[in-house]
Amino acid sequence: MNQQPAPSISLPERARQVIPGGVNSGQRNVPGLADLVIARAQGATFWDAGGRQYTDYHAAFGPPLLGHNDPDVAAAVAEAGRTLDLCGVGVTEGEIELAETLAELVPSMERVLLTSTGSEATFHALRVARAATGRRLVVKFQGCYHGWHDAVSMNVISAPDRVGRRDPISTGILPEVLDATLVLRFNDPDGVRAAFADHGDDIAAVIVEPVPHNVGCLLPDAEFLRTLREECTRHGSVLVFDEVITGVRHGLGGWQEIAGVTPDLTTMGKAIANGYPVGALGGRADLMDLFSSRPGAPVFFAGTYNGHPAVVAAALATLRKLREEPVHEHVFRLGDRVRAELPPVLASLGVPAVVTGYGSVFVTYFMDRLPKTYDDLLANDTGMFVGYRRRMVDQGVFELPLNLKRSHLSYAHTDADVDRLIETTEAAVRAQLAD
Ligand code: PMP
Repeated sequence: MNQQPAPSISLPERARQVIPGGVNSGQRNVPGLADLVIARAQGATFWDAGGRQYTDYHAAFGPPLLGHNDPDVAAAVAEAGRTLDLCGVGVTEGEIELAETLAELVPSMERVLLTSTGSEATFHALRVARAATGRRLVVKFQGCYHGWHDAVSMNVISAPDRVGRRDPISTGILPEVLDATLVLRFNDPDGVRAAFADHGDDIAAVIVEPVPHNVGCLLPDAEFLRTLREECTRHGSVLVFDEVITGVRHGLGGWQEIAGVTPDLTTMGKAIANGYPVGALGGRADLMDLFSSRPGAPVFFAGTYNGHPAVVAAALATLRKLREEPVHEHVFRLGDRVRAELPPVLASLGVPAVVTGYGSVFVTYFMDRLPKTYDDLLANDTGMFVGYRRRMVDQGVFELPLNLKRSHLSYAHTDADVDRLIETTEAAVRAQLAD
C-alpha cells in the first residue's frame, strides 16, 4: 500500500526519495538548485513553490520564445483539449497544416514528419541517412548536442583532456556504436575535407548544429557551412542541420535561410511549439519518402504521440504569432541591447569577458576573445561563469548556473528586464571578483 508522505517531509525530499536525484533530466541536476520546486510560469517569469519570483533567461533550454504560457498558445491548447486528445490513426487537419507551414518556411523541408522530441528527430535523421546510403559513419562536431541517443552521445562539453578523443556522455553505449561516429572540430573546414578524403565513401551523414548553442554560442564561418554542403554533395553523404534551437528562434526559415546553405535534412523542436513536447524532421522528398509512414517504405518510423493534437495546436498558434507579430524584431532588439550594453559594464570591472550570441540568445564568456571553436572555449573561466550566475539566481534573475549554458530572451521580456539584467550582472560579477 502506498504510504502518504509525512507532512514534515519537504517536496524536494519527497522527490529525491522516489525520483533519482529528484529531477526528471540529467540536465536539471544543477549544483546549488537541488531544492528548487517550480510552481508557476507566466511571461518572462517563473515562481518556485515558496513563492519566490525569477525573471527567466533559462527558458527551459529554449522553447518559450513567446514567453511562458502565452495566452494565444494556451487558448489553442485548451481548445484542442476540448475537441480531441489522441486517436493514433489517420491524420488531423492540424498535422497537415503544420507540415505545410514548416515546408513553406524552411528551405530544405519538402516533406515533414512530426515527433515528440528533438532527440527522436535526430535519431530518425541518422537512421534514414544510413538506410539511404548503405553507409556506417556519422560525423558530428565537438560541442554540438543532438539528443540523448547513442550515435550522438559524445563530445558535447568535454573536459580539456578529452577534447580530440572519444568522450561519451554516458556509460552503457556499445563501443562499436561510438566507433561509428567521427568527431570533428567545428569551424574547421580543413578537418572536414581531410575526414572526407579518408572516409568519404563510408560517411552516411554529417550532423551539425549550424550554431552550436549547446556550448553557448559559436558563430559559424560561412566557409565552414559551405564546405559541409560541398563535401556531402561530392561524396553522396546526407547533410543534417540540427535546428532544434536555431529553428524558428533565429528566423522563420532557420539558420539555413540565414546562411544560404540548404541541408538534405533538418531537425527542429523546442520553440516551434513554445514549450509543448515537439520535434520535427523534414527534408528532401526522396529521403523522407523512405520512412514507413509511406506504404511499403523500409525505414521504420513510429511514435504514439507524434502529431499530438494539443502539441500541434500549440505549434500552429506559435507559428501564427511569430508570423503576425513583431516577435523577432522585439527579441533581436533586446538581444542587441544586451550584447552592446553589457561589455562596457564588464570592462569597467576589469574582468576579461566577451558577450556574444545571436538574436534572442546571449552568453557571457569570461575570456578575452570571441571563441570560434570548442578549443577556444577552454579559455573560459568556469568559476566566474557559474559563480556570477549563482549570484544572479539569488537575486531572482535566472541564468542557468551551469558552465557554457546560453541564455534566452522572449517576446515577454521588456526593456526594464534588460536594464535589471545588466544591473544584476554588474553586481554579481563584482561580488564574484571580490570573493
Ligand atoms: N538538438 C539540439 C540542438 C538540442 O539543443 C536538443 C535539446 N537540447 C536536442 C537536439 C534534443 O531535443 P530534446 O531534448 O527535445 O530531445
